[in-house]
Parts: sequence; structure tokens; C-alpha cells
Amino acid sequence: MTTPLPVSEVIAALPVPALAIGATEQIITLNHAAQQLLGMPAQGRHFITVLRQPSVVEAVEKCLANGSQTTAEYLTRENGIDTTYTVSVSPVGKTGIALLSFQDITAVTAAGQMRRDFIANVSHELRTPLTALMGFIETLRGAARDDAKARGRFLEIMSKETERMNRLVGDLLSLSRVEAEERVRPDAEVDVSSIVAMTLRTLTPLAMDADVTLISDLPSDPVMMRADRDQLVQVCTNLIENAIKYGGKGKRVYVSLSVEEHVQALRARGLVLSVRDEGPGIAPQHLPRLTERFYRADEHRSRELGGTGLGLAIVKHILNRHRARIKITSEPGQGSEFKVLLPLE
Ligand code: ADP
Repeated sequence: MTTPLPVSEVIAALPVPALAIGATEQIITLNHAAQQLLGMPAQGRHFITVLRQPSVVEAVEKCLANGSQTTAEYLTRENGIDTTYTVSVSPVGKTGIALLSFQDITAVTAAGQMRRDFIANVSHELRTPLTALMGFIETLRGAARDDAKARGRFLEIMSKETERMNRLVGDLLSLSRVEAEERVRPDAEVDVSSIVAMTLRTLTPLAMDADVTLISDLPSDPVMMRADRDQLVQVCTNLIENAIKYGGKGKRVYVSLSVEEHVQALRARGLVLSVRDEGPGIAPQHLPRLTERFYRADEHRSRELGGTGLGLAIVKHILNRHRARIKITSEPGQGSEFKVLLPLE
């Protein structure tokens, strides 16, 4: 015959917070993790004085009364962070004991919330141009049917709104591609100096249209590193395009690339790409959030300039893949500087 397992030893060995409540409604035993979670010496106490949340109390009462197995949610605060646990309440055979085990589902809940927020944001971003298009189609069919001048003007706006939707869908696809590749280390050796130079050449017409002067300071020799060429082009393009867009008419944008023997933030030899503008700058409270999806420091200006709010989020994912960092400094009225720090080893 095998010896019955002692409940307290089984509970002590569990890797999650767990406790047992006897038929007398007292906590018979609990492990160290449960003690930490409840934040009080709970052994021997009536369970209601310890687990005060109604859904948990109800689940325990049901289990003690008729041996039913249920789950409940337990909300708490750990180190200043709201934390959610799923509590599984199960009877232990016919002993009349209820076993409670806690599973931390905070990250899962947060991921679900992020997904919902993202879908709501995308829908909202797409609906705005779509509503405009529907309105103009209606007008062109009705009131403006025979008005050639109005038709020209409306078609112009409709074309802008379609371009905005197209850019948004393009950025969403880029974002999902860079996210999918984030864990794959790039394996090609590329010359970063020529990538920056090529991007500058591509963006020269845009800068000229915006009456912005591009000033560059790049090493004349190749600067090789292991990286994804297309993704580095995208980082340079997004940062320089932003500097041109937000920097403003008649201003200059400075782009430089240098090798530094010791980059403090990387604790390694690295490459520093700096994109600096002379625009209105960004207030300090926005700086930590700029790389979030759809976050805009200046909502009105971003929309007016056709921004999608995704450019810097894409940059952040690409930099994560390259174990690189971004440092944004700005003084309102003085311009902004976006520094990309790429490790060379
Ligand atoms: P957007 O498509 O709106 O430009 P980004 O992700 O590229 O989206 O940038 C996020 C926000 O950061 C922008 O909406 C803008 O408010 C701010 N921003 C980015 N670059 C600059 C800059 N060079 N100067 C001022 N603000 C900037």
C-alpha cells in the first residue's frame, strides 16, 4: 500500500501560489508563493478574512459545499502594478478539502487589450478617409454632378484621401513584416555609409519640394556591419522624411554617420546615425511615447502632413532586431535630434 501524499508537502512543492482550505473553512496550509501573494500569515485563518474577493469566496463556498470545480479571478497590486490571477478551485478527492492554485494572467490580459486597442485604432484611422470619400462620391452624384470646377476640386481631395489610406495600409504591412522578423538575426554584411548616402539622394526631390536643405557628414570609407539592408533604408527614410516634414520650410536637416569606439548606451563599439532638424521640436512629455503605434505629439500637424503615426513604431522594431537603440532629444523651439546607436560587435 502506498502512503497518502501529505497535502502540505504537495502544496509546498507547487511552482505557483497554492493553498488548501479544510471543511472547517480554515486555511490548512499554503506555500511560500501564496504567502507572498496574500501578504499576511494566513495559516489557520478563516479563508474569508484572507481571500476577501466575492468571486473567489463564492467559488470556495461552492467547492466546500458540493465538491464543484470552478475558476475565479483574483485582482491584486504587486510592486505598484495591477496584477490579475486566475484561481482554480478544486476539491481534493473526497477529503472535503478545497485546493486553490493561482495563475498570473496579467501579460495575457494586457496582450488582449493591446490587440483590441490596435484594431480600434486601425479602424478609426481607416474610417476617417473612407467617410470623406463616401461624402464626396455622394456629392459628385448629386449636387455637384454638372459642376466641372467643383468636380476637379473634389477629385483632388479624394485622391489625397486615397493616398493616405494607401500609405496606412503600406505601413501596417511593413509593421507586421518587421514584427515577424524581429527575432531573426540579420546575416548580411552591408555598408551603412552607402545606405545613408543612397537614402539622401532618394529624398532630395522631397526636400527640394519642401524648401529644406539636406546637409550630410558621412565617412568616405565603407562602414560595414551585419544588418538588413532594406530595413536600414527604411529607418533612414522614416527619420529623414520626418525631419523634412516637421522641420519646416526654409530650414536645414543635418544627417551624420560616425563610428565611435565606445557608445555608452550600448557598452560597445558602435555606429551613430544622427538626424537633426531645426523645426518646432517636441515637448518632453511626448518623447518616451513617440515610438508607440499611432502616437502623435502634434495630432493636427501629423494629419495635415499625411502622417500615419506608424513611422517611428516601424523604426523601433527594426532597431530591436539589430540590437540598436534610439535616443530622441528635443528642445521646443530649437529642433529635434534622432540618434540611432547601432552596435558593431
Ligand atoms: P507620423 O506619421 O505622424 O509622422 P511617426 O511615427 O513618424 O508618425 O512620428 C510620430 C510623431 O512624432 C509624429 O506624429 C510627430 O508628432 C512626432 N515627430 C516625429 N519626428 C518629428 C520631428 N522631427 N520633429 C517634430 N516632431 C516629430
